[in-house]
Amino acid sequence: MGNKINIMNVLVDVVTMDEAVSKVMDFLRQDKCSTVYTPNPEIIMAAQKDKELMNVLYNASLIVPDGIGVVLASRLLKGPSLPQRVAGYDLVQNIFKKISNTNYTVYFLGGAPTVAEEAAIAMQSKYKGLKIVGTHHGYFKQEDEQEIINRIQNVKPDILLVGLGAPKQEKWIEKYKKILPVKVCIGVGGSFDVMAGRIKRAPKGFQKLGLEWFYRLITQPKRAKRMLKLPIFAWNVLKISVKNSNK
Ligand code: UDP
Repeated sequence: MGNKINIMNVLVDVVTMDEAVSKVMDFLRQDKCSTVYTPNPEIIMAAQKDKELMNVLYNASLIVPDGIGVVLASRLLKGPSLPQRVAGYDLVQNIFKKISNTNYTVYFLGGAPTVAEEAAIAMQSKYKGLKIVGTHHGYFKQEDEQEIINRIQNVKPDILLVGLGAPKQEKWIEKYKKILPVKVCIGVGGSFDVMAGRIKRAPKGFQKLGLEWFYRLITQPKRAKRMLKLPIFAWNVLKISVKNSNK
């Protein structure tokens, strides 16, 4: 099973980026649909009140920490701590590097109309030999879902990237994973926007200092309300940590 750490009942895998990539490569060789999610503190907080989301995360094959807050929390809690942040965007880029020039195929589902196509074109030019077998935007109605499933069933991608935002993408994957002829489903949030060049990631300096969240806050101020969850997350982790140290 490998090492996991319990962060407010979400079991996060204690893996480095390289180990996470190796796990995904293992999933590709298995005969089932594995699921990969990359929660940040906001999602872990949301799961405290959303039983369905908590259950989806519990059933995941691999959970890696997208947010530095999750990594810092693991250092305060009992047990092994998380070695590093494994951002969903970077994980996917590393997987693309690994599977370019292999027969593994990818499908992009999510983002505003045309973003997934733009992202696919950009990634195929960045990773020569990367096989993207289909794209679909993420603003569909429930009655369109069967058509999307049919399209995915027709092309049978090895990897399905779902970027519908959290927790929509996680719930969507859980709902359909049994009927999808896919080896790995990954919830990728707004990654297609970044791949398409519509949104910029924080400069490397911010990322290294663990301040990507701060960069996103100043460049996308509409996220501010969501980020109010961060201090509540930190407070909850501290409470658990103090409780554990008094035991
Ligand atoms: N999105 C989508 N369908 C929806 C809602 C959102 O495809 O019904 C896309 C949106 O265009 C964006 C991504 O989901 O590309 C959400 O990005 P965000 O950075 O907010 O992801 P999160 O931080 O929630 O993982």
